[in-house]
Amino acid sequence: MNLNAKIPAGNLDEKWTKYRSTMNLVAPNNKRRIEIIVVGTGLAGAAAAATLGELGYKVKAFTFHDSPRRAHSIAAQGGINAAKNYQNDGDSVYRLFYDTIKGGDYRSREANVHRLAEVSRNIIDQAVAQGVPFAREYGGLLANRSFGGVQVSRTFYARGQTGQQLLIGAYQSLSRQISEGSVTMYNRHEMQDLVVQDGKARGIITRNLLTGKLEKHAAHCVVLATGGYGNVFYLSTNAMNCNVTAAWRAVNRGALMANPCYTQIHPTCIPQSGDYQSKLTLMSESLRNDGRVWVPKTVEDAKAIREGRKTALDIPEEDRDYYLERRYPAFGNLVPRDVASRAAKTATDEGKGIVKTGLGVFLDFTSAFERYGKSAAHSKGIHNPGREVIMKLGKEEIAAKYGNLFDMYENIMGEDPYVMPMRIYPAVHYTMGGLWVDYNLETNVPGLFALGEANFSDHGANRLGASALMQGLADGYFVIPYTIGQFLSNEIRTPAITTDGPAFEEALTSTRNRLTRLMGIQGSKSAEDFHKRLGKIMWEYCGMSRNAEGLQKGRDMIRELRKEFYADLFIPGSMDEFNPELEKAARVADFLELGETMMVDALDRKESCGGHFREEYQSEDGEAQRNDEDFTYTSAWEWNEENPILHKEDLVFENVELKTRSYK
Ligand SMILES: Cc1cc2nc3c(=O)[nH]c(=O)nc-3n(C[C@H](O)[C@H](O)[C@H](O)COP(=O)(O)OP(=O)(O)OC[C@H]3O[C@@H](n4cnc5c(N)ncnc54)[C@H](O)[C@@H]3O)c2cc1C
Repeated sequence: MNLNAKIPAGNLDEKWTKYRSTMNLVAPNNKRRIEIIVVGTGLAGAAAAATLGELGYKVKAFTFHDSPRRAHSIAAQGGINAAKNYQNDGDSVYRLFYDTIKGGDYRSREANVHRLAEVSRNIIDQAVAQGVPFAREYGGLLANRSFGGVQVSRTFYARGQTGQQLLIGAYQSLSRQISEGSVTMYNRHEMQDLVVQDGKARGIITRNLLTGKLEKHAAHCVVLATGGYGNVFYLSTNAMNCNVTAAWRAVNRGALMANPCYTQIHPTCIPQSGDYQSKLTLMSESLRNDGRVWVPKTVEDAKAIREGRKTALDIPEEDRDYYLERRYPAFGNLVPRDVASRAAKTATDEGKGIVKTGLGVFLDFTSAFERYGKSAAHSKGIHNPGREVIMKLGKEEIAAKYGNLFDMYENIMGEDPYVMPMRIYPAVHYTMGGLWVDYNLETNVPGLFALGEANFSDHGANRLGASALMQGLADGYFVIPYTIGQFLSNEIRTPAITTDGPAFEEALTSTRNRLTRLMGIQGSKSAEDFHKRLGKIMWEYCGMSRNAEGLQKGRDMIRELRKEFYADLFIPGSMDEFNPELEKAARVADFLELGETMMVDALDRKESCGGHFREEYQSEDGEAQRNDEDFTYTSAWEWNEENPILHKEDLVFENVELKTRSYK
């Protein structure tokens, strides 16, 4: 299959401006006749639905939640990147582009990333106009903080609730369109299948989650903004019901899944405490602006802490290993997530973990309390303040910055992080892979578009912190409203699509058969049981580090698990009613196919890059070794039960030189 990314010609920094100024438009009178389905109303989907509605299209928006406000985007804590250079610290569109390409380990598409950096500035203006309460400096300018992998401050934030505030902004715009009638909202509707008619995406099949009713919905094109699939690992920082179903149904209808093995493991999460857990909690990366990561230098001290004979406070400064500062002096605690996560694994593999399971390291704010405390005392005119005053003032400053995160930590861990360093460990957090899309955000199925975390396009093998919100909103507010016109300008003579055709009937029947099959198994194990076992296989063999033998074993285990799933699954109740167990089971069925594809993708990629670390390909000091000669491509997989089929999009770098990523 020829994967044409449709990258416009011209200089990198002129491509987008020129392209959007010369592309085909749909006239207002035609827009009013054209229908668009948007599935997903998180940041990417709500932004897209609102903007397309405002432009005059007839939009139908779907979410399985009871309100767009529930989308997982609401969980985003730390912030959103934009190249505004308010700090005057050397930021620019080019630097954001470069940092993102480098951060993604040179496995993303130059043109898409540059466009993302360009429109990042518009997003902030848009959000401010909507009333999003970003933090401000004393002088009134919006405040910024730093995230990993960069040396400038370009992250805009609203305390630790940035996603929530941005989502309220997008939801507000969406609500306006709903009230004006340009967007029809379908809450509690889960997409079950994609309808492809005469080679174009023309509709979806949904299940009304409250009544169980299967419905057909038609439109001139379909936009998927259905989020990421980190929950294939069962334990992750994602909301419990994040899933891959919409994207995977599209894959079953011919769309390609790109780079599925690129998984982001976030270094600062609350460590797992036991086997009964179904969710992990993120402590925002913003905390690494001020927190210092360490483990005891000796295994004995670590053991004493694990056994409760010592605490962090008993370990003197000279016996602590601030390993990120030691190994990566240029970026220190702000190395990118993949690097920080692997370093934590190395420390705990050496036996220096500081929680009972052995899988934890410290994140310590003592130096920040002192630094901020001294500065606060100085500005209050307190001369020669004692340590007690300094620490008190410092803690107040930190509380103003991260108070809600500290409270959350204390509620979960039962330990006061103002007194005792936090305990953290890496956890699955984000998926860089997703549906393959071209420059127009269109998949290889004509008329099917994918936005936000559901597509693969901008982050390469590793996403830099605070770039997902940027991408979701860029896609929704500023890219799709233009690029969808490239497809729709050829559809102005197409009458309204009806749901009567055979393609709709076939998709409806196949959905009913799929769900009936699941209901009919009547075995002995819950969907949760299979999901948990799948997650363990994924984490063990396709997690923070991978090798060929493990990946092959993992793949075989998933195939066995899939067989067992279809032989021994138990779902209570019936199909024609509210049935959360059926919802879960259908999602797990899709995760089982995705999981195998991830193993196959990771097996194929015989190199280490970003979040994909193959143990066979590392330097002597344990750093990732890319293979640019053989692997500078995007893998795009066609699902096939026997053996997924690989298609490749070669990545061409004309503006940056491929270098070994170094943060030392
Ligand atoms: C704890 C946490 C903190 C984060 N913090 C940050 C941060 O500070 N900065 C940052 O840049 N990124 C952050 N991220 C990542 C970021 O939040 C997400 O990548 C982003 O919000 C995804 O947005 P989205 O619109 O693509 O998808 P989502 O917000 O996940 O929305 C998906 C939508 O699709 C709908 N949907 C899914 N499947 C179906 C279906 N089959 N049928 C109907 N509807 C469906 C859902 O109902 C929902 O409306 C964080 C992630 C986590 C887990």
